[in-house]
Amino acid sequence: MPDSSTRPPTAYPPTAPHPNAPTVLVVEDDPRVRSVLIRHLTSVGHPVRSVGTALGALREVAAGDCDLVLLDLGLPDLDGADALKMIRSLTDVPVIISTARDDENEIVRLLNDGADDYLVKPFSGSHLSARIAAVLRRFAAAAPPASEVLRVGGLAVDTRRREAALDGQPLDLTRREFDLLAYLAARPGTVVTRRQILAGVWQDSYGSVQTIDVHLSWLRRKLGETPTRPRYLYTVRGVGFRLEAPPFR
Ligand code: CA
Repeated sequence: MPDSSTRPPTAYPPTAPHPNAPTVLVVEDDPRVRSVLIRHLTSVGHPVRSVGTALGALREVAAGDCDLVLLDLGLPDLDGADALKMIRSLTDVPVIISTARDDENEIVRLLNDGADDYLVKPFSGSHLSARIAAVLRRFAAAAPPASEVLRVGGLAVDTRRREAALDGQPLDLTRREFDLLAYLAARPGTVVTRRQILAGVWQDSYGSVQTIDVHLSWLRRKLGETPTRPRYLYTVRGVGFRLEAPPFR
C-alpha cells in the first residue's frame, strides 16, 4: 500500500463542486474510511482536500485553503490532541474531531482544547453533514462582520455596520435613507432612475416614485446640500439621480 504520508494532498473533485460550498479538509489515515468520507462530502457538493497525516493537515491549514477540518485522532505521525493544538495555534478554522475511541474524558478535553464538535466512528454521511452544517452556522454567527466600506469623495458608507459618515462626521440616517445612500454610493457617477431605486432599495418596482423624492430630499439635507447647490447628490432632470464625488473638497 502506498504511504499516504508522502503523497501530496489531493484536491477533489475536479467535477463541479457547489460554487459556494465550504471546502472540507479530511484528515484520515485509513484509506477506506477516507474514500468513503470523500465520496460522501463531494456528493453533497463540498470541495474536499484530504491528507493522511497531522503534518499534512498543518500544511493545508497553514495554506488557508479549507473552511472546515475533519480530524481523525488516530494518525500515524502525531497524537490527535497535539495536532489539534497545533492547528489552533495557526487558525480558528472549525475542527470536527473524528474518533474511534468513545472516551468521554478525552472528548471533553478536546472540546476544551478548541475542537468545535466530534463524531464517534462509525458515523453516517447524513450525521456528518448535519454536524458540519451546525458547526459552520455557529462559526458564521460568532464571526465579527467584515466591514465593507464604500467611499465616494468624503463619504464613507459601511454597508455591514450600516454606518455612514461625511468628512469623518457620522450621518444620522433613517433605515431608508441609509439604504438609498448605500445604493447610490455603490454606483458612483452613474445615473440611476427612480424605478431602479424602487426595485433596488424598496424591492418594489411598482411603488410610487414620489416616495423616493421625499427620502432623497431628506438625505440631501443631511448631506448639507440643496438641489440647486449639490456637492454629491445630483438630480438628473427627467431621469433620476447621480451620486458623485465633488471635484474639489
Ligand atoms: Ca486513524
